[in-house]
Amino acid sequence: MRVACAIVGGGLSGLYAAYLLHRRGVECRLLEARQRLGGRILSVEGTGARARFDLGPAWFWPDMQPRLRGLVDELGLAAFEQQTRGAILVERFKLEAPQRYERGFNTEPRSMRLQGGMQALVEALEAALPSSLIRCNLQVSSLREMPEGLLELAGADGKPLAIAERVILALPPRLVNRMTFSPALPEPVTRWCENTPTWMAGQAKLLAVYAKPFWIDKGFSGTASSFVGPMMEIHDASLPRGQPALFGFMGLSPAARQALGETALKEAALAQLARLFGPEALAPVAVHLLDWAQQPDTATRADWEPPLGHPAYGVPASFESLWSGRLVLSGTETAPGQGGYLEGALEAAEAATSRF
Ligand SMILES: Cc1cc2nc3c(=O)[nH]c(=O)nc-3n(C[C@H](O)[C@H](O)[C@H](O)COP(=O)(O)OP(=O)(O)OC[C@H]3O[C@@H](n4cnc5c(N)ncnc54)[C@H](O)[C@@H]3O)c2cc1C
Repeated sequence: MRVACAIVGGGLSGLYAAYLLHRRGVECRLLEARQRLGGRILSVEGTGARARFDLGPAWFWPDMQPRLRGLVDELGLAAFEQQTRGAILVERFKLEAPQRYERGFNTEPRSMRLQGGMQALVEALEAALPSSLIRCNLQVSSLREMPEGLLELAGADGKPLAIAERVILALPPRLVNRMTFSPALPEPVTRWCENTPTWMAGQAKLLAVYAKPFWIDKGFSGTASSFVGPMMEIHDASLPRGQPALFGFMGLSPAARQALGETALKEAALAQLARLFGPEALAPVAVHLLDWAQQPDTATRADWEPPLGHPAYGVPASFESLWSGRLVLSGTETAPGQGGYLEGALEAAEAATSRF
């Protein structure tokens, strides 16, 4: 099967690239390793219509993310503001009660969430594409330059998956290095890929769903920060007029999480929520834990050491002419403006498709 463009990776960046190309009439094919689309975007079902909670990204900031704001509007998706009203808590020491700050905080710019979870964005993009364009459960393992300037993509068994005039790699750069290239990529490219951390890949998110919003009833916003752990940052994850929930980002390292094990980690997280918000936290309706560091199609072992702060993302200009410009590095980590974020995934897709 020969196409003008093959896109490797069906996260937001790859999907948006496919959406843009398809709209322009460019024949393309998207190959995704997982059985599902979305990559780092993953929402789990709650109870009720379109009741979904995010285990990956939940927020966007429309006041400073014009692409995402525009796409959400274009696809007719509904957004709502992150709940921040009420007191916040800070847990500084193990043997000291958490401190309560009545004034809470206002996020500036405002953080928004999507009705139906961030997955609603993935589903809307997928719905706008012909199903024949998307292939899931296909991990691209190698890329080879053929005569006449064509590129062949193959799976782990060496079987060709597609032949394309151009290839967009909409992947975390570290996963580019999982693939083999013939001819080999220049050493500065593989070095840059290895040295570019995948944003949030070393993180794990815990979500606890409850029957009642007991923290709101006590005047808490649901926001807490902790130096005790296992979660370091906690927020309200409730659905508007739907199920109440809290979520937290883990402060424990991937190695410590692995050593503790999932059951003990969940128990420790619920005990922390009880310390902060009260004993009702020990009786959730459901608990979900997703350790992204254990997801081979997101994280590599290098991501177990998280970067100190938000890296300066963006791909060096000299990498834009790989294989005479027919091989394009994409994905949010290549975006110079808002690399790492969902907005960066759109920014990268725009740049990758701008040459068609
Ligand atoms: C816990 C967490 C919370 C986050 N919170 C936020 C937030 O609130 N707001 C925000 O803006 N951003 C947030 N982010 C970051 C956001 O998720 C990313 O910016 C965005 O999802 C990246 O999209 P992408 O398409 O570039 O990459 P990915 O989503 O990583 O997609 C890459 C895709 O490529 C596939 N793939 C990999 N290798 C191959 C291969 N060889 N062959 C075929 N397919 C392959 C993968 O399976 C994956 O589907 C968060 C991330 C995490 C993990």
